[in-house]
Amino acid sequence: MYDYENLKKDIECINPITTEVTVIGKSVMERDLYCMKMGRGGKRLLITGAHHGLEYITSMFLMKFAGEYSSCLLADRKMRDFDVRKLFCAVTLYIVPMVNPDGVDIAVNGLDITNEYHRRLISMVGLHSFRKVWQANARGVDLNHNYDALWHRTVEKPSPTLFGGDYPESEPETGAICSLIRRIHPDMLICFHSQGGEIYYDFDGSAEKNSEEIASKMSCVSGYKKASPEGSASYGGCKDWFIREFARPGFTVEMGRGVNPLPESCLEQVYGENAGIILTGMKELL
Ligand SMILES: [Zn+2]
Repeated sequence: MYDYENLKKDIECINPITTEVTVIGKSVMERDLYCMKMGRGGKRLLITGAHHGLEYITSMFLMKFAGEYSSCLLADRKMRDFDVRKLFCAVTLYIVPMVNPDGVDIAVNGLDITNEYHRRLISMVGLHSFRKVWQANARGVDLNHNYDALWHRTVEKPSPTLFGGDYPESEPETGAICSLIRRIHPDMLICFHSQGGEIYYDFDGSAEKNSEEIASKMSCVSGYKKASPEGSASYGGCKDWFIREFARPGFTVEMGRGVNPLPESCLEQVYGENAGIILTGMKELL
């Protein structure tokens, strides 16, 4: 299963001609938060994966996408009928493939009670079958409920999912993403999650008018359904804050269908469905 160690190995193999790798911050357990920058255009598209522990298939997908995009550029080949050279010159992609490496590690490898963070975590959240339920970071905060967009607590204390933290941006992982966004001012944001086969494009009725149109095009290339968030999915998330703060198109894509964690055998299928979503987003920025 794909954890932070696998990501690190993949990052080391990235081609420096097409991709610049930086570290935008550290997780609670001091793992690096990697960002891959690809392109030299004035338009900027930020893409994130694995805000949630059980959703590491999104990281695998983004690394595979970066690899194919890079190969197509170097070979001067089209990618699914998209002219990648043109996209590379017009749009700068920023890809943060694993926002929550600690949560992914817990979901993949379970808890290690010899680790002080993990012992502290058990004292906060109690015992769980961590590999089946863990979505939060190493302090039991659900990162996609830790953004300043109608932030409020659904759950009162640290837990495997849904606890939004003590205040917005209380967690280093969320802080790193917000700092990056404040620095680069993306023209568009796409956050990949799993699962459900849905594309969310609105926040509190304030989406820009072209966002729904772009979501429709993304829906066409992926077969996913355009959707409006409800209940706990409707506030405190990364795209929610981005739309509220910058009034630009922001999307949450729930890739694949099934039960989290989606098995690695789904990768080819979700790759087919979601690569076009990124390329469509880039094309809209031309
Ligand atoms: Zn998620």
